[in-house]
Amino acid sequence: MTAATLAPEQSIALLADARKRLDKALQYISISDDALRRLKYPKSSLSVSIPVRMDNGSLKIFQGYRVRYDDTRGPGKGGVRYHPNVSIDEVQSLAFWMTFKAALLNLPFGGAKGGITLNPKELSRQELERLSRGYIDAIADFIGPDVDILAPDVYTNSTIMGWMMDQYSIITRRVSQAVVTGKPLMLGGSQGRDTATATGAFFAMSAILPKFNLVPAQTTVAVQGFGKVGAVLAELLFKAGYKVVAVSDSQGGIYAEQGLDIPSIRYHKRESRSIKAVYCEDTVCSIVDHQAIRNEELLTLDVDILIPAALENQITAANAADIKAKYIFEVANGPITSSADEILEEQGVCVFPDILINAGGVTVSYFEWVQNRSGLYWTLEEVQQRLKQKMVEETQYTWQISQDLRVSMRTAAYIHALNRLGEALDAKGTRDYYLNGKG
Ligand code: NAD
Repeated sequence: MTAATLAPEQSIALLADARKRLDKALQYISISDDALRRLKYPKSSLSVSIPVRMDNGSLKIFQGYRVRYDDTRGPGKGGVRYHPNVSIDEVQSLAFWMTFKAALLNLPFGGAKGGITLNPKELSRQELERLSRGYIDAIADFIGPDVDILAPDVYTNSTIMGWMMDQYSIITRRVSQAVVTGKPLMLGGSQGRDTATATGAFFAMSAILPKFNLVPAQTTVAVQGFGKVGAVLAELLFKAGYKVVAVSDSQGGIYAEQGLDIPSIRYHKRESRSIKAVYCEDTVCSIVDHQAIRNEELLTLDVDILIPAALENQITAANAADIKAKYIFEVANGPITSSADEILEEQGVCVFPDILINAGGVTVSYFEWVQNRSGLYWTLEEVQQRLKQKMVEETQYTWQISQDLRVSMRTAAYIHALNRLGEALDAKGTRDYYLNGKG
């Protein structure tokens, strides 16, 4: 056991809340004070202004960020988010989670994240391209295949990743595919990257749920967020026989006690950009029996499994007591605050944490980086098989820690990741090593 605990940081709300998770894990493992001190602060935080010529001729300045939280285990790795709520606090928290996620999955990466504060729906495609290239112009000295590698996150996609890789290659005057992952296949992307986060979550869930004797056909599921991850995971669960009774996006949600036809809803969303409770035969869709619900209502539905797959801070001390689901799989990063965590634990809700459940994305990003650097490309089957192996192995290991120490899966995941991070940080030398020749 260690005497060291993290001092609460008052100045940064979200990051401070994220760090609280470490305090619990620290009760069970011994990590040097030096390592702990290093993990308290982001290594570097860059804030940039990005001037963009808009289609109407005006010049608009956007605020962007790139944070490298820790790179002891390898170059920084993390997505880029386009959202009106992006702030330095949010980006630092996301980079913190990436640090632990990469360590948990034993990937040779540190944690990083980036973002631009904007509503991407208000920009034309041309403006989005100029903004994305302008972001790379602003942060080019701060990133690189051996320094810090970008990827998609909320409201960014493979096209945007392609622009970013291209811009970095223009600046450095060499084709530099490995600086960005999640690219289009034709620009060095990996098979399976677009569905990796959802597929990884599905593999982790498939390793866990049999331990609770849940039968898919009798297990109800609600999914908040119907984007790159939520929609794909909802469909994987639907196809595995689970009863997905509710889904939602930023506009609101739908609920049907008998279960929703997820492939039809995805088809309709692709065509109309909105979520509707439909059943489609070929291209003909008809509305089925359902209730329109608000996003807050989806979270408190009486379902077996709740999957937050949108944004952080969705379950807080204000609504945690109303949660009726027995199992929560965090697909979004940070959807549950630390105070809500305690309420859920008291209620006996099993929470499976983000740094494990959504780690499939960074895992296949790692595979993409390896493929770019080796020049040898894998089939979808190879990617899926390697992803499954990693997700199942680390899920089982984390489960074993939680059983052995009688701690939550979140605490177990942080214990597992902290052990790896602590060892890496201590390998550079500790106080004991320099003063007493130990370690
Ligand atoms: P996305 O932009 O494709 O989708 C986000 C979805 O959330 C959209 O359907 C949007 O309408 C919905 N949404 C936004 N605000 C909402 C609200 N208040 N209530 C309900 N729905 C809302 O993003 P994504 O890539 O699917 O990411 C979703 C989450 O998963 C994020 O927390 C992200 O950090 C995390 N994540 C993504 C990846 C990845 O590979 N894309 C990897 C790891 C973690």
